Amino acid sequence: MTASNESTLHYSLGERLPGPAQTLEIAPGVKWIRMSLPFALDHINLWLLRDRQQDIHGQTREGWTVVDCCVNRSEARAQWEQIFATQLEGLPILRVIVTHMHPDHIGLAGWLCEHWQAPLWISSTDYNVALVAMKDRDGFGGESGADFYKLHGQTDAQFLAHVRGRGSYYPSLVSPLPSTYHRIIDGMEVEINGHAWQCIAGYGHAPEHIALYCPELNILISGDMVLPRISANVSVHAAEPEANPLQLFLSSLERYFALPEDTQVLPSHGKPFTGLHLRVQQLIDHHHERLNDIMQAAQAEALSAANILDVLFKRQLDSHQMTFAMGEALAHLHYLWFAKQLVRKADEHGVLRFYLPQT
Ligand SMILES: [Zn+2]
Repeated sequence: MTASNESTLHYSLGERLPGPAQTLEIAPGVKWIRMSLPFALDHINLWLLRDRQQDIHGQTREGWTVVDCCVNRSEARAQWEQIFATQLEGLPILRVIVTHMHPDHIGLAGWLCEHWQAPLWISSTDYNVALVAMKDRDGFGGESGADFYKLHGQTDAQFLAHVRGRGSYYPSLVSPLPSTYHRIIDGMEVEINGHAWQCIAGYGHAPEHIALYCPELNILISGDMVLPRISANVSVHAAEPEANPLQLFLSSLERYFALPEDTQVLPSHGKPFTGLHLRVQQLIDHHHERLNDIMQAAQAEALSAANILDVLFKRQLDSHQMTFAMGEALAHLHYLWFAKQLVRKADEHGVLRFYLPQT
C-alpha cells in the first residue's frame, strides 16, 4: 500500500543511488547495494558492513557482514559475483544476516553462505517458517489458498486459478537454506567491527523481523518495518487464518519512537533517510485512516475482504497484487474485529462478513 508523504522526509544522499553491482558508502564501513527485482516493487537494498571475526584458532579475519541477499535469480547471482570481484577490497564475506524470510531478503542466503562458508544469522521463527515454506506447503497458494480467498468473498475465477497454480512460488525464489543457523533475537547485541548493533524484533509484516540499530553510528537498518515511500504489506495468510497482524505491526512500530529522531534509516526499499519519528507516525496514521474508511463503508453494508478492495486500493490490481491486497484487507478487518468494533458472521453463501455490532 502506498503511504506517501515523503516530501517531509530528508534523504541523506539526495537522489544518489548505487549503480548496478556498485556500492555507495553511507558511513565508514557501511555500504549500500541496490539490486533489481522482477516485481512491481522493482529493487531491494542490501547492506555491506565491514567486519572482523575470530576464527576457531583465535586468528582475526577481516571481511564483511552482509545484511539481506536478493532473490535466487541468475541476474542477482551475477550482480553478486561482480560485487565479490570489485567491491569487497579482496576480503571475504564472514557472515550473512537476514532481516526476515521474504524471498527478496533471504533468496540468496543459502547460496552466499555456501559460497563463503559463512554462517546465517536470522530469527528462529523466520528460519523455521522459511524451511516450512521451502517444502512447498499450501499456505502460500494451492487449493487451500483458493478456499481461503473464497471464504472471504473472492469470486474472480482468473484470480482463484492463479492462486491454485502458485503452490511452489516460495522455493522458486529461494536457494536451499543452510542446515544450521545462528539465532538473533529481540534485545540481543550483535558486534560488527567493534560496534554493537541492537536487534529490534518487529511483527505483523513477517513472522519475526529483526531490524538492527547501532547507537554509535546512529544508523538503523530498518528492513521492511520502516520504509520511506510505501507501507510494508501486512497480511492475514491462509496458514494462520485468524491472525491479527495489523495490531502486531502497529505496536511494533511504536518501539521506534525510542530511537533518536535524527537516526539515519537504511530501509530495504527506497532511499536512506532521516525523519524516523515522523515516518513512523505517518505509517501509523495511514493504517488508522484505512481503518476509518472501512468503518465508514460498514455503515452501508456488511463487508467481506473482497468487498473492501475498492475502499483500500484505488487502482486496478493484477492477480499477484490481489493476493497481497486480500491479505491486507483482511488484516484491517481483523484489527477491527479483535477490537470489537466489528463482528464477524458467515452469510447464507458461507462467505465471512464483518458487521457493525447491534446497538
Ligand atoms: Zn518483507
